[in-house]
Amino acid sequence: MDSIEQLARLLTESKDTLVLTGAGVSTESGIPDFRSPGTGLWSQMDPMELLSRSALSRNPAEFWRRSEPIFRQMASSQPNKGHYALAQLEKRGLVRGIVTQNIDSLHQRAGSNCVLEVHGHLRTASCPHCGAEREMLPLLDQVASGDNPPRCNCGGIFRPNVVLYGDTLPDAFQRAFQWARVCDLLLVVGSSLEVAPVCWLAPTASRLAIINLGETQCDEIASVLIRGKAGEVLNSLLEFA
Ligand SMILES: [Zn+2]
Repeated sequence: MDSIEQLARLLTESKDTLVLTGAGVSTESGIPDFRSPGTGLWSQMDPMELLSRSALSRNPAEFWRRSEPIFRQMASSQPNKGHYALAQLEKRGLVRGIVTQNIDSLHQRAGSNCVLEVHGHLRTASCPHCGAEREMLPLLDQVASGDNPPRCNCGGIFRPNVVLYGDTLPDAFQRAFQWARVCDLLLVVGSSLEVAPVCWLAPTASRLAIINLGETQCDEIASVLIRGKAGEVLNSLLEFA
């Protein structure tokens, strides 16, 4: 097991550090990892089925009815000490930016400025026909009140601005790959690196460090590997970096 001091040394030596975050950075904010159901809201459903493009087109009212409590929980959760620690590392000039798989906006709400959301976000929904955008929370209230599916003035049905299973990859992925290729250090936090295409980012970086509670697909190529909760490890890292 590597130490936080070793990670701090890598971080201070690096001129260009990119952070890649997954669900593990938000579990301490009460958001379960929706790729591995078994807790809370997610236990009764298969996210691959629920959050899919085909589910939305097949029955948009059902899609919104089932998504509403989950989106609401994510949209109303609070950043944790891991998010705040990453924002602090950016302010100190030790982190250039964050690539995140999360759709909860918690990095921005903790104060991180440079965040690339490769799976989109839950701040807004948009109309696929005319491109109109709506804030998510009022839209969720509309769905909860029975005005469902939520429609645009043009008649189109709103969809969340997240990447659904079956969607093509957003441009943000290309930028994430460009960033990963040129950075000195990629610090992976709270991701098991199992989900394609994010898992392909890690091997493209010249140096890799990993903070994760469980095993990841890239443990053997990591220069530093720390098993632990994201918030706790990142907070300790602040004391050394
Ligand atoms: Zn429209």
